[in-house]
Parts: sequence; C-alpha cells; structure tokens
Amino acid sequence: MKKTDIKSLTLHELEQALTGLGMPAYRARQVFLWLYRKHAVDFDAMTNLSKPYRSLLAQHFDIRSLRLTGEKRGRDLTTKYQFMLDDGSAIESVLIPMGRWHTLCVSTQVGCALGCKFCLTGVKGFRRQLRVQEITGQLDAVVAADPQVSISHIVFMGMGEPFANYDNTLKAIGVLTSEYGYQYSQRRITVSTAGMVPQIRQFIDESKAHLAVSINALYDDTRSSLMPINEKYPLRDLIGALKDYHRKRKSWITFEYVMIKNVNDGIAHAIQLAKLLKEFPFKVNLIPFNSHQGADYERPDDAKVRVFQEYLLGHGIACMVRTTHGEEIDAACGQLGCVGDEATRPVPLPPVGVREGVHGH
Ligand code: SAH
Ligand code: SF4
Repeated sequence: MKKTDIKSLTLHELEQALTGLGMPAYRARQVFLWLYRKHAVDFDAMTNLSKPYRSLLAQHFDIRSLRLTGEKRGRDLTTKYQFMLDDGSAIESVLIPMGRWHTLCVSTQVGCALGCKFCLTGVKGFRRQLRVQEITGQLDAVVAADPQVSISHIVFMGMGEPFANYDNTLKAIGVLTSEYGYQYSQRRITVSTAGMVPQIRQFIDESKAHLAVSINALYDDTRSSLMPINEKYPLRDLIGALKDYHRKRKSWITFEYVMIKNVNDGIAHAIQLAKLLKEFPFKVNLIPFNSHQGADYERPDDAKVRVFQEYLLGHGIACMVRTTHGEEIDAACGQLGCVGDEATRPVPLPPVGVREGVHGH
C-alpha cells in the first residue's frame, strides 16, 4: 500500500483521514502539534498517542522532509538554500536577516509558466507545481539546517507564481497559520503575484494574508512587453481587482516595481505610478533590476533610481528602494534559477530525531 505523506494534509484533511481509520478527530490536532511544533520525524515520538494508534498511523502515512542539497551564504548573511525533490527537480528558498529576526522567501512552483522577460525563473520555464508539503517543508528544512534562526515573516516570492498554484498555496498558508501548526499570524505572511486577477479576487474572500503585486509598469504596452500575463489581465482589470481588495479588506497593498534601464525608469512612469497610488494605502518597493544570464536588460544608474524615488516621496508615497540581498550568491529577486547550480556547496542531510521548534513570530 502506498503511504500518504502526512504533511500533504491540512488539519481538516487529517481529521477526516483519521476518523476514516477509526480514530477520534482530536487526535489529528495532537499529530499536528508533533509534526509542526515539535518537529517529530517518526510516529514513535508521538508519546501521547497509544501504541496501536502509532502503528496505525505508520501503516498509512509517512513523514518526509525536503532534502537539502546546497547552501550559500552572502556577505550580508542572506542565505540561499537549494532542495532536491523526489523527482529530481530542484527548488530554492532564501533566508534574509532582518535584525534579530529573519524573513524566509519560499518557492511555490518548480519554475514558472508566466514567462516575465526580466526574471530568470520565468526565462527557464515551468516544470511543475509544488505540493503543500514541499512549500511548508522549506521552512522545516531551513530551521533544521540552522536551529538558531528565528523566522518571523514568510514571503511567497521565491520561484514561481503562487496564484498559479492557488490551492496548494492556500493550504500551505493554512498549515503555517494553524494554531496546531506553525502558528504564524496571517499578517506575517505575504503572497506576491504578477497579477492573476481571478485568483486575487478569490484571495480577497479566502485568506487574510498580505498581498503584494508586481506592478512593474503602469502603461499596458510596457507592462505587456515585460510580463505576458498583462495581455490576459490588463492593468484596468488588475487595478479593478485591487480596488475591491482594498474596499473589502481595508488593508494596504505592497507594490513591487522592478526598475529596468530605459524601459520603465523614466519620470513619466513615476508620474503614472503616483496617480495610481492616490487610490490605495500602499507601500512601494523599488527593486533595481538584478542581472542574470537570461535577460539583456540593465539596471538603471543609482542616480536615476533616486530621482524616481524622490518623485514618489515628494508626492507623499511611502517608497523604499529594496536593498539587494544576496546578489553575489544569485539569491536576489529574479535570480533564482536553480537546476545545475554547480557553485552551490553540498551540505549534509539534516539531523534525524525530534527537535524543538525555535522559530517564533
Ligand atoms: N511570481 C510572483 C512572485 C515571485 S517573483 C511575482 O511575480 O510577484 C518575486 C519578485 O521578484 C517580483 O516582484 C518580481 O517582479 C521580482 N523580480 C523578478 N525578476 C527580477 C529581477 N531580475 N530583478 C529584480 N526583481 C525581479
Ligand atoms: Fe513568474 Fe514572478 Fe518570475 Fe514573472 S516574476 S516569471 S510571475 S516568478
């Protein structure tokens, strides 16, 4: 009999599975606590379950973890982790230090089908969706690799488009925020989208996590030339959905704006962006283009970035230039490409055994 990876299940799904096996539903909550709070790696560790229950669980389920195959640390201590999945695909996560705490940037797909021209993941194309346990497993594996880190925020900004893997993204957020799971507050989780309008609308009703939108241009022709998704969901539709988000959720939105030399870095673009932002409470992150082998674009000069930023600041817009984390280790935005990354140093597998959870929020 093929066993189910127990971490593929949400709490509700596990409750159903356990009642199907004749166990009371509340046992699922105990199992969840063992898995996500105490990081149990086998059922024998679950000592508040009777032996017959433990062996029943072991008959039907197994507990797997991601295989860490590489780790690279940059000068500012930003660390890129590479994982090998069961089918040989590789994915990456990036741990970004923020004072005492860390933000973990997780992947949601192997590659990405949206094909944004400036993004290495997009240029390399799409391989497959990540499963729930492959999304949450990135957090597990990073904490296992370095039990000292405290991960306070999780951003879905690694490889892939979270809303193209909508169901698994939402289930993963469910595990991360479950009071029997990792207990993260929804406010500490940010999902970044290139602008998949139907899923943004679904997200408004189904999640309380924070939304970031990679806006990147406020003219349809420029945006379509950078992001093919704009042909399908042009700016008018996208902005309509964001207005609804703001009206219903009453919360601010983060806009990400990758600045590319002579493409979207001129003052006319800043004026358009400022016009849009009058309609929302927002934050803007300007991300100067990070170069990689997959694109011919260039990063604007610092002076040009400053002029753009000052225009926005002068119009009362909260706007940060996102300092580049991990550029020298190819861990910055848009540089996650993965497969065949020979420079990555191999590391031993995480230790086996029950570990205490250390990440807080
Ligand atoms: N697919 C989602 C999340 C992953 S991409 C999205 O597009 O929002 C995360 C961020 O990296 C996006 O804001 C994207 O615009 C940015 N990005 C991609 N390639 C980049 C590059 N080469 N330089 C700087 N930022 C880049
Ligand atoms: Fe996919 Fe985001 Fe990269 Fe576009 S920027 S190709 S949506 S990962």
